[in-house]
Amino acid sequence: MQVILIGPPGSGKGTQAKRLSAQLAIPHVSTGDMLREAIAEVTELGKVAAPIVASGALVPDDLMIGIIKERLGRPDAAGGSILDGFPRTVVQAEKLDALLVQRGGNGAKNVRVVQLLVPDEAIVKRIAARRSCGNCGAIYHLETAPPAKAGVCDRCGAGLIARVDDTETAVRKRLQAFHGQTMPVVSYYRNQNLLREVDGVGPVDEVFERIRKSLS
Ligand code: AMP
Repeated sequence: MQVILIGPPGSGKGTQAKRLSAQLAIPHVSTGDMLREAIAEVTELGKVAAPIVASGALVPDDLMIGIIKERLGRPDAAGGSILDGFPRTVVQAEKLDALLVQRGGNGAKNVRVVQLLVPDEAIVKRIAARRSCGNCGAIYHLETAPPAKAGVCDRCGAGLIARVDDTETAVRKRLQAFHGQTMPVVSYYRNQNLLREVDGVGPVDEVFERIRKSLS
């Protein structure tokens, strides 16, 4: 199954994608995580992406398509994956269609697109309280899902950090990118009758249940 999770920044895509990946036993492919890794490792891609990601704008399509093509071509993604953060533009969506068709099998027919609905007012609040583990990527929320010990990851014991693009200015820019460039992707899938809308407000377990139902 090829799952595509779409939602504004801070809508819980990463958290839910990790759970879905464990339950469906297919890899979680987060283009945001891949870019953050490239930035941390100061690769050529990382050098180009760093200022763009920090500002909250989108990285150019040709770079993103290159990354996703390579990732989906690996053997572990042959049976599908949970795409988190890709596609974010219609050009990326069209390219993904072509890639899935090229790859053959029923990958192209077995696509499920889930849109997590979270109003903008809730986003800014959520993001201000978001922290993630600098080592394993686990995600926390200072109020609704805090770590057992302040500032320390429950899973691996490493320190928790706030993302560089979780500042108010960058979040506004990310929301702008979402409404301007990613909402057309939602229409693109709606027109193909592939879109499943899920209320993304509420406890993580409840939202997960809604997503699971929408996939069956
Ligand atoms: P995320 O972790 O999905 O919120 O992504 C963090 C940032 O990485 C975004 O704000 C963009 O700057 C960049 N990014 C991630 N995925 C994409 C994509 N598919 N297209 C363009 N930029 C992306």
